[in-house]
Amino acid sequence: MRAFAQEFRRQARKLTQDLRHRGLIQTALRKYEATRDQTKSTFQDWQAARQAAAETKWEGINHLDRYLVQFADNLAARGTKVHWASNGEQARRIILEIIQSKQARSIIKSKAMTAEEIHLNEALEEAGFEVVESDLGEFIVQLRKETPYHIVFPAMHLSRGDISELFTRELGSAPTDSPEELTMIARRVLRQKYITADIGLTGANFAIAETGMISITENEGNARLSAALPKVMISLLGIEKILPRLEDLALFLPMLATAGTGQALTCYNSLYGGPRQPGETDGPEEFHVVLLDNRRTELLADPEQRDALHCIRCGACLNVCPIFRNVGGHTYGTTYSGPIGSVITPHLRGLQNWKHLSQASSLCGACTEACPVKIDLHHHLLQNRRNAVAEKPGRVERFAFRSYAAVVNRPWLYRLTARIARLAQKCHPLIKGTRLDPARSWTRTRDLPPLARQTFKQYWRERR
Ligand code: SF4
Repeated sequence: MRAFAQEFRRQARKLTQDLRHRGLIQTALRKYEATRDQTKSTFQDWQAARQAAAETKWEGINHLDRYLVQFADNLAARGTKVHWASNGEQARRIILEIIQSKQARSIIKSKAMTAEEIHLNEALEEAGFEVVESDLGEFIVQLRKETPYHIVFPAMHLSRGDISELFTRELGSAPTDSPEELTMIARRVLRQKYITADIGLTGANFAIAETGMISITENEGNARLSAALPKVMISLLGIEKILPRLEDLALFLPMLATAGTGQALTCYNSLYGGPRQPGETDGPEEFHVVLLDNRRTELLADPEQRDALHCIRCGACLNVCPIFRNVGGHTYGTTYSGPIGSVITPHLRGLQNWKHLSQASSLCGACTEACPVKIDLHHHLLQNRRNAVAEKPGRVERFAFRSYAAVVNRPWLYRLTARIARLAQKCHPLIKGTRLDPARSWTRTRDLPPLARQTFKQYWRERR
């Protein structure tokens, strides 16, 4: 348990001092911020749009039982095979069985955070399959054997030079500083993979209950090719992706693009409702949808934090979070980083192991303000802190609060403690920062404000 927290602190300390890292993140986010604000202003009323989106997600999540069945029935009616996975292990097994039954060798995959969540690539590679990420950012981090740095921008922490060096080392290409050339290098490799892949694996941005379709938004066309070229398509999605109606996309597609990348709309927006139908000229011969729970229903059962399931994974809360902007995505050690990751990871992976994430917040509320579906993120972080203490109070905290209660309940002890504290504070400069300093870790980066010269009672007596 402590290992995760210690590793988080170690990485955070290292990266907050790394000016190059900070510079790369700030540069990437400056560009995003400028376009996001411009695009937001094209909405007639951004706040009203947020409210409408929050209510639509509320409807979908609070009637998940009904909408999921409707979604699955509609998909099945057009020949899609729908699978239900209650956890990561089941989902991996289902997908492996599909792939093995097709005697497939290679899999082309578009961006899917749910696949990261269940460590699907590792499982498939262990079973002997070749898995190639087709999203450019994901392709880059896969070559570096890293996990995505950010939900939307997986390679945000890398410069053009880093990518050029990587491509030279791994793909044998000539060094270049041109983004276009770097894209073309990746494209040449990936085109071949699309043609030879047996299976296309995707995630989904939304699942439309009314029509039984999944919606995928992207900018590179890679998800489209992953879905269209291989004979078998598998989509893995969390059950919270549900939207009740097709027309809801009219709000959610521009909203996701605006909050996610600052675009009015992403370049490619596709809907998949089943395998190729008679008379159709393209599309997969077989289509499987795997619906993943993986403790989402436990979060659903929590009326206080259920709205965390409204998340559309736009990444806006990460982009505005002062902690994320300094410590970066990998420091969290989780699939979902930033404020939303700190809220949901304790639900998905255990509160005690991941409670330190809720402390990694200044509680400034910028995340809540940025969230397009109005998730009350910073209050959920506070609730996680409270729940962690209620579930397993820390020894130090328990001792501190008991002592505090003992002191404030006895006026004579309170007066004595205040006198000792004032005296100790006078001596503090002599030991400040040394091993003898009991507040060393606190005073290293903060001031210890002086206690008042006299108590309120003394002041009142003098005044009279
Ligand atoms: S919590 Fe809100 S802002 Fe953060 S990723 Fe999810 S939808 Fe976007």
